[in-house]
Amino acid sequence: MELETIAIHAGNLITPGGAAIQPITLSTTFQRDAEGAYPSGYMYTRISNPNRVALEKVLTMLEKGEDACAFSSGNAAGSAVFQALEPGSHVIAPADMYHGLRNQLKVVYKGVLDVEFVDMSDLKAIQGSLKPNTKLIWIETPSNPLLLISDIEAICKLVKDKDVKVCCDNTFATPVFQNPLELGADLVMHSTTKYLGGHSDALGGGLITKEKDAFWDKVRAIQEHSGAVISPFDCYLTVRGIKTLPYRMKGHDANAKQLVAFLRSHAGVEDVFYPGFGGMLSFTVKGGETAAKQLVNSTKIFIQATSLGGVESLIEHRASIEGPDTKTPRNLLRVSVGLENINDLIDDLEKALI
Ligand SMILES: *Cc1c(COP(=O)(O)O)cnc(C)c1O
Repeated sequence: MELETIAIHAGNLITPGGAAIQPITLSTTFQRDAEGAYPSGYMYTRISNPNRVALEKVLTMLEKGEDACAFSSGNAAGSAVFQALEPGSHVIAPADMYHGLRNQLKVVYKGVLDVEFVDMSDLKAIQGSLKPNTKLIWIETPSNPLLLISDIEAICKLVKDKDVKVCCDNTFATPVFQNPLELGADLVMHSTTKYLGGHSDALGGGLITKEKDAFWDKVRAIQEHSGAVISPFDCYLTVRGIKTLPYRMKGHDANAKQLVAFLRSHAGVEDVFYPGFGGMLSFTVKGGETAAKQLVNSTKIFIQATSLGGVESLIEHRASIEGPDTKTPRNLLRVSVGLENINDLIDDLEKALI
């Protein structure tokens, strides 16, 4: 099956009763039979639930993996990977990284994991930072918020014969533009809160594995025992959002390309960061932080808010949300280009730009 077909059908389990669209199974518990067994295959919703099974199935197929685990957020999905490592493991993470996961590594895994932040677009730097106890390379490409590109295939080759897992945060690219498992990665992580859900109304995360190996068994055990699972209702919303993912991404991509062309031609814009595909871009403005903040306060259609991947366009002054240790330029704005008419979006930015 091709991507558009997978997106629509793979996450829709037809259940007894014959409803064409899978209902939401809110029950936390499932009936046992005379022998005390579970004839439905379900026991308790933290362990498994029909809506979560459906979401995990479509995630597996979209990323061409063997299995998936769905979590209550992208950060919970990332945390499951870090928890599955032995204490003291060396982790190589990107210097330009989603700040929520960077802070998780710094705060929650302080003293547990030996984390090193490296320029993930520099192969030599990655190679140079490998240690005998390196167990994980975390890739995020395109990165947040500078939209830097990492060479997934080349990074995976660096550790091909080593006991090192490579996990790629594929939230920005989505399976429409990139399948990291096909490029050699062992695991893919998603904040389904973003493009997969697509409507800014359901928090969730996913991990997809290339192989059901011992590391994956540990991830599955962490999902069950730590319990950071996504609710049946959020599974339903996410599966529903995924159905239109391939078509939404075409619209985000087309709108972003036109917005980039407009921004590059505008005298008030210093620099535009865009990887050439997808709906995320960032740009720096002339006039420093003051001009940047003035701009986000003057748009009428772009909502000044964090997050990304919804149908509505968002704009955000990134440095002020990332905290005091951020290296993001003070005059940088990050844009999640939505699916509104592009003429209205350009018009909105044109009026707001000085
Ligand atoms: C939002 C985001 C996350 C974290 O996901 P949550 O669902 O907010 O926990 C991780 N990585 C990237 C690239 C993100 O944009």
